[in-house]
Amino acid sequence: MTSVLQHYMNGQIFPSASGRQQDVFNPATGQVISQVVLASVEEVNTVVAAARAAAPAWAETAPLKRARVMFKFKELLDQHHQELAALITREHGKVLSDAMGEVTRGIEIVEFACGMPQLLKSQFSDNIGGGIDNYNLRQPLGVTAGITPFNFPFMVPMWMAPLAIATGNTFILKPSERDPSCALMIADLFRQAGLPDGVFNVVQGDKTAVDALLQHPDVAAISFVGSTPIAEYIYSEGTRLGKRVQALGGAKNHLVVMPDANLEQAVDALMGAAYGSAGERCMAISVAVAVGDIADQLVSTLVPRVKALTIKNGMESDAEMGPVVTAMHKAKIESYIADGVAEGATLLVDGRGLKVAGHEGGFFLGGTLFDHVKEGMKIHREEIFGPVLCIVRVPDFASAVELINRHEFGNGVSLFTSDGNTAREFSRRIQVGMVGINVPIPVPMAWHSFGGWKRSLFGDMHAYGEEGIRFYTRYKSIMQRWPDSIGKGAEFTMPVAK
Ligand code: NAD
Repeated sequence: MTSVLQHYMNGQIFPSASGRQQDVFNPATGQVISQVVLASVEEVNTVVAAARAAAPAWAETAPLKRARVMFKFKELLDQHHQELAALITREHGKVLSDAMGEVTRGIEIVEFACGMPQLLKSQFSDNIGGGIDNYNLRQPLGVTAGITPFNFPFMVPMWMAPLAIATGNTFILKPSERDPSCALMIADLFRQAGLPDGVFNVVQGDKTAVDALLQHPDVAAISFVGSTPIAEYIYSEGTRLGKRVQALGGAKNHLVVMPDANLEQAVDALMGAAYGSAGERCMAISVAVAVGDIADQLVSTLVPRVKALTIKNGMESDAEMGPVVTAMHKAKIESYIADGVAEGATLLVDGRGLKVAGHEGGFFLGGTLFDHVKEGMKIHREEIFGPVLCIVRVPDFASAVELINRHEFGNGVSLFTSDGNTAREFSRRIQVGMVGINVPIPVPMAWHSFGGWKRSLFGDMHAYGEEGIRFYTRYKSIMQRWPDSIGKGAEFTMPVAK
């Protein structure tokens, strides 16, 4: 008997009666390890009602007290770091060291949220005239929801929930149905940290659950991270229904290798960024842009490295790359490889047909490398989200910039060069939200903000950092005049937050 993963509401498991379930796999073995329930509309409504009931008291709780829950939550996350990482590897497939890194990057957002009393500090203009002062507040929105993708089952929920909650909102997480366990562990750790019932809740489900959250009038804001077609749908539906929406979508990230780049460094960067997490990262590098005469050298250095990748169950300590998430996703990536061949790109390393001894049922694919990929080919246009790296050759720097700026996605980009002026020009001219200079995966730190441009993000604000705080709060300006001041009498104890 496999376990059934349920919803979470009011500080406890909320068993589903929808009668709908889906298998959850261990991608390394191909075996079904559990089932996840899929919510009905009524169940979503029940969870929204719980989050709504909890919202006024939580909004009234002093920011300092909310932050103390975050401090405790962070302590618990540290204690359960390894356990969370193992859960990720078991359902997602990424190697354990990478999952440990995912947990660290998520904890960093919690650390940022611990500073919320300082971050919510407002501005005050003294005596604008006639004994009047003007100041502003940032107040919570009420019930907020997050809909997250399979590829970061811990980190992406952490982009949302700590900020939503520390700013005084209640939150409903709808995780990916492909790896739903982390969400339940997050919920339990929040409970242990002292978060009141109803402030953090989990709805398991698919499109039915997402649509019910979108349609519900009590959900004030939705944060979404996932593929571009769904991001666009969530943004247009959500905003049409009067909600605040930030919807982060797919990507096709380029790494430009200039002729003056340190080749060894660039190749190391490409290996990690293209094949780490089997390419299932929105910041994965899937296109190497070789400028001028560096291309041949780049190719000859890359080929043996791609062939030598250590691919096995991510729980094994020497694994560099694990399986992809499902059999269906594996088939989709294989069909992209076939498309690349059919469109005339040169397949230098073919990852299809890889078998991992002892894991014959696992969803494994080898690292794949294409050369002579041309702009407009499907493998250059579309996000493959697998361990497939395409090399595009361009004559000069300007052609590299134009190629990237013409692409419909603009999530991340990277440039390898030893020339400061080239780097500066690139950073200023490139139409992409997150730029790395000699850094392959420039995921911003917790106190900056994460987001792409063009069809990689729908909405006005990026995720987490200051943009995240703005997203989860409403600005209010107050002007006040006090003709008399009323004395409260003497107080002799140290004033504390009540
Ligand atoms: P996905 O779009 O299939 O699913 C994301 C979420 O949307 C899941 O919770 C899923 O249940 C829900 N969903 C799926 N189909 C839906 C539908 N028809 N209607 C309503 N909801 C639906 O994405 P995924 O495969 O889980 O994740 C991979 C994608 O996420 C890639 O495109 C990747 O680039 C993107 N991603 C982007 C970022 C970013 O920050 N820009 C970060 C991580 C992942």
